[in-house]
Amino acid sequence: MKDKIVRNGSPEGKKPAKAKKVSTKLEKGKSIKELKAKLWPIFSKFIRLRDNYTCYTCGKVMLDNKSSCHAGHYVPQSKGNALRYDERNVHAQCFVCNNMRRGNLYEYAIRLERDYGPGILQELDEIKKDLKKFARWELEEMIELYQGKVRDFEVCRQAEELF
Ligand SMILES: [Zn+2]
Repeated sequence: MKDKIVRNGSPEGKKPAKAKKVSTKLEKGKSIKELKAKLWPIFSKFIRLRDNYTCYTCGKVMLDNKSSCHAGHYVPQSKGNALRYDERNVHAQCFVCNNMRRGNLYEYAIRLERDYGPGILQELDEIKKDLKKFARWELEEMIELYQGKVRDFEVCRQAEELF
């Protein structure tokens, strides 16, 4: 989609003082912080649905108590944005593994290598160095993407319950 260029048609091409404040439709929307706050619960729900509410690092099943299931990062969110919403870096975890065992990273690493191949830890380590900054459109696209994925899971579950 092409960005709309907003011009205020000032004569002689002279920029009025307010020019910087002229907003496109996008700019009037939510802030980056608000978009991240909106995206996280959607992304987290997708991760927990994908992993069937089963702790990645100890195998505990939380289908009867879904709210006790977290979406836990391997490379923590404090390391920046580059892996914050990377599906390989986030998996369902129980409270004990995610909080008490601080991610249970030894077990996490073993499972990542099993599931994504032996190069995954180095790859994540490389990506982690990227000082990623999100544009609003990226976050908006991810919100839409993961809302869709969550919907798909829910439709599938409903269909399964019918049979
Ligand atoms: Zn666990």
